[in-house]
Amino acid sequence: RKSINVLGVRIDCINFDKAKKKCIEFLSSSSPKVVFTPNVEMIMLARRDEKFKKILNLGDLNVPDGIGVVWASKYFGEKLYERVTGFDLMMSLMPEFEEKKTKVFLLGAKPGVAEKAKENLLRQYKKLEICGVHHGYFSEDENDMVVEIINSSKADVLFVAMGMKRQEEWIYKNKKKLKCKLIMGVGGSLDVLSG
Ligand code: UDP
Repeated sequence: RKSINVLGVRIDCINFDKAKKKCIEFLSSSSPKVVFTPNVEMIMLARRDEKFKKILNLGDLNVPDGIGVVWASKYFGEKLYERVTGFDLMMSLMPEFEEKKTKVFLLGAKPGVAEKAKENLLRQYKKLEICGVHHGYFSEDENDMVVEIINSSKADVLFVAMGMKRQEEWIYKNKKKLKCKLIMGVGGSLDVLSG
């Protein structure tokens, strides 16, 4: 796939529709696939943080989240077509997940927020299978327990909303242990969804 390099971070040249299709494709792969949504803040952070940069570049799909990335792309090669935000991409997949009975796990935000987000999602997508939720404020010691909760929920999709850098680092560290098929970092999306 065509991609551009914005200050060392790979951004895939993909529009919203194709990104959505790719995510659905990922659901039938044998190993977990990771979707990151780099925006300008993340790219600036990655400039000063080699490890974060490396992790971002390991995303199986890096969509251009943020109009800044779309604009910047003009100076770094290919022009990107449009902005693909994590929130919009996540929401666009819900009808598909509902229809295919795809199991969804929501991880992140303060205690109670993911529960509220689940309620709101279920109001809109009545048959959506949200197989579990967990807040994003757990300790290193609790990490394996959280991974186990996710795995025993049999989640196909894991949305990780623990803020930029933290969520990407968490996904990178736990990817091998997770049995989900699609893992997506979605920033503050659960806060938005819970409102
Ligand atoms: N968050 C979390 N665990 C943490 C820190 C933050 O789950 O240890 C959540 C926070 O509750 C919010 C989201 O991550 O829902 C984004 O947080 P913030 O706005 O601080 O992060 P940013 O993406 O702006 O860095």
